Amino acid sequence: MTRHFNFCAGPAALPTAVLERAREELLDYQGRGLSVMEMSHRSPEFVAIARRAEADLRELLAIPDNYRVLFLQGGASLQFAMVPMNLLGRGGAANFLHTGIWAKKAIAEAKRLGYPVHLAASGEANGHTRVPSQAEIVLSDDAAYLHYTANETIGGLAFDYIPEARRPDGSKVPLVCDMSSSILSGPLDVSRFGLIYAGAQKNVGPAGLTLVIVREDLLGQAVAGTPTLFDYRALADADSMVNTPPTFAWYLAGLVFQWLKHDIGGLEAMADINARKAEALYAAIDASGFYSNPIAGPNRSRMNVPFVLGDERHDKAFLAEAEAAGLLNLKGHRSVGGMRASLYNAVPASGVRALIDFMGDFARRHA
Ligand SMILES: *Cc1c(COP(=O)(O)O)cnc(C)c1O
Repeated sequence: MTRHFNFCAGPAALPTAVLERAREELLDYQGRGLSVMEMSHRSPEFVAIARRAEADLRELLAIPDNYRVLFLQGGASLQFAMVPMNLLGRGGAANFLHTGIWAKKAIAEAKRLGYPVHLAASGEANGHTRVPSQAEIVLSDDAAYLHYTANETIGGLAFDYIPEARRPDGSKVPLVCDMSSSILSGPLDVSRFGLIYAGAQKNVGPAGLTLVIVREDLLGQAVAGTPTLFDYRALADADSMVNTPPTFAWYLAGLVFQWLKHDIGGLEAMADINARKAEALYAAIDASGFYSNPIAGPNRSRMNVPFVLGDERHDKAFLAEAEAAGLLNLKGHRSVGGMRASLYNAVPASGVRALIDFMGDFARRHA
């Protein structure tokens, strides 16, 4: 058996140790004689798995007690709708920072639902090559919250600071963040946020699970008529089990949390590893004279590194040779082309070294 290096943007690489543990437990979970997939979500065994996963996530991110953690379905894209439905029940406008394709989708969904939307800053004019500075962010007088995308997975653009969310009169509003492609890549001050959400399939676990971390005072403000399964209050009251949750994905996410704690040694250690991986790849791109990345230095994503070849006629050969060398899924997003290497937590430093070596060799042969 060979496991290749997988640079997919999502569903993404999972730690081999996690998959091995899941394999060991697949047919017979800890002597119970059945798989986690076959258990009632209300059984003591599964409830213990679910609680353990939440406790480990709380420990990793130091989530304060006045925040609830929800394990949901529907992906990050459903949160584009659930956030305004839950936070605009008392009126006001959804405010957004427009930083790229994922922010744009979140904005479009709030508009589609008919809510007032205000762009507090937009990077469209600079082609989303840097994030807005704090001074460039101007909320509306009626802002109910400010939404931003911590890491634009397609553009490879990441915030290097946590924005302040204040209306022009100085009053604070909740900060909402889509952290789908950066959560757990390093330590985080959760107390700065009203709500954080993330689809699991980048840095948390398999597809089918979505994490929501929400401050308790934001529960119970949903607009009238919000379906039960979209209502954070109802979901929190039922410990994410209003209906059947994605049990196996929840279990696997729990194994990833264990891996982060015990194999990696926590999120500080993870952040160091991620910084070294990304710095090495950007340095190789910048020094190559063959590859390039357009993002301003401080805003270069450590998770998703898009790059183009000097001549796009080499793209096909690049991808074919990379795959033959065991370097998978380097094709850029269909909307932007070029290449993209996603360097999530589960992509080892050895994979990044192999990629850098391959890129250097390819450039020498095609320059
Ligand atoms: C992948 C991604 C999404 C969409 O996630 P789904 O789970 O497929 O809905 C949203 N935002 C960001 C930043 C992403 O990377």
